Amino acid sequence: MKISKTIYLDNHATTPVDPEVVEAMLPYLTEKFGNASSKSHRYGWEAESAVKLSRETISDFIGAETEEIYFTSGATESINLAHFGISEMYREKGNHIISCITEHSACHDSLKSLEQKGFEITFLPVNKNGEIDLTQFEREIKKNTMFVSIMTANNEIGTIQNIKAIGDICTERNLIFHTDATQAIGKISFNVNDANVHLASFTSHKIYGPKGIGALYVRRKNPSIKIKPLFYGGGQQDGFRPGTLNVPGIVGFGKSIQLSRDNFNEENKRLKFLRDKLYNGIVSNLSDMHLNGSLENRLQNNLNLVFDGVKSDSLMMAMKDIAVSTGSACASESVKPNRILKAIGLPDDKAKSVIRFGLGRFNTEEEINIVIQKVTAAVNDLRLKSNYQKPVKESLLT
Ligand SMILES: *Cc1c(COP(=O)(O)O)cnc(C)c1O
Repeated sequence: MKISKTIYLDNHATTPVDPEVVEAMLPYLTEKFGNASSKSHRYGWEAESAVKLSRETISDFIGAETEEIYFTSGATESINLAHFGISEMYREKGNHIISCITEHSACHDSLKSLEQKGFEITFLPVNKNGEIDLTQFEREIKKNTMFVSIMTANNEIGTIQNIKAIGDICTERNLIFHTDATQAIGKISFNVNDANVHLASFTSHKIYGPKGIGALYVRRKNPSIKIKPLFYGGGQQDGFRPGTLNVPGIVGFGKSIQLSRDNFNEENKRLKFLRDKLYNGIVSNLSDMHLNGSLENRLQNNLNLVFDGVKSDSLMMAMKDIAVSTGSACASESVKPNRILKAIGLPDDKAKSVIRFGLGRFNTEEEINIVIQKVTAAVNDLRLKSNYQKPVKESLLT
């Protein structure tokens, strides 16, 4: 059987939009085009009630109240709003911020910008599995630490941080805690109360919704967190994040959360099955390769593999009908060495031989079988062409 379609395994970069999401959005791009702030006619009311419904679905899914959800243009904006908003509002608390070295660039680079403004940032290191050390985290807390920003799940190697423990420490030490939950939403259970989270960022296009719409959760009670807005305008969303609401986007985002919620267990079980099948298939066919991170503490849709002696760019070229990534989508546009792989101690030459596989809702078992065959054939072929020699184990040299 011939499959001409490119097999999409880059679901950490973005996901296809679920047809049910498209269907839910369409009326809001056509006949239901109203502005959710128009109070005087049916068009406005229709839009407003659709926004309300989405807000309820989204807040309910993460254990939040509806007033605690602010719509943004995506996780990048949410994270920036959180970082700049807290640092402006709580300046008197101090100027020290704790984060971790493996954060997404939206988090890392916005903190770097605060560093230039005079804030002191501690980027915690991680172990070879990408996990931070909680004891070290506690040791880094100072009198002038104002907030902590640590992601829930990593977009590169899928590592899941113990955000419950981090949240408990932050509560005990009276620190504000923001988490980038973009990759975690829909894949692992995420509840802002269980984890003692004060602010959380996430986005629709990583969970089969449209691009350009995301949310920031900001806690209103126990404690009430206040942050300074980045934009000023028409007073929408309590003036906290003004601008005419992206109604079709919000409707699609709500629908994507609803679908993730309704299919949660089944979908994640299936993703784990397919991911394990892909991993076991590749491992049994090829030698001189390894997994970055642990198989246990990672997102069930992620694989990050090193193929010794093979450049990832050549490997991607050799299997053009498989869409994968060598690093994060943002990082692959620049030539900088991958910060996350460096942080887990991967030497530069090995980092050039990494392929990230991100599985998603629309992948089939048949596709996984094809990918196993194609990866195996491409790696073998490239190794043959480059006269790759199996590395001799040190113990054999003596
Ligand atoms: C994709 C991603 C972002 C950025 O989200 P956008 O909605 O594209 O701005 C932030 N953090 C993580 C972990 C991501 O995977």
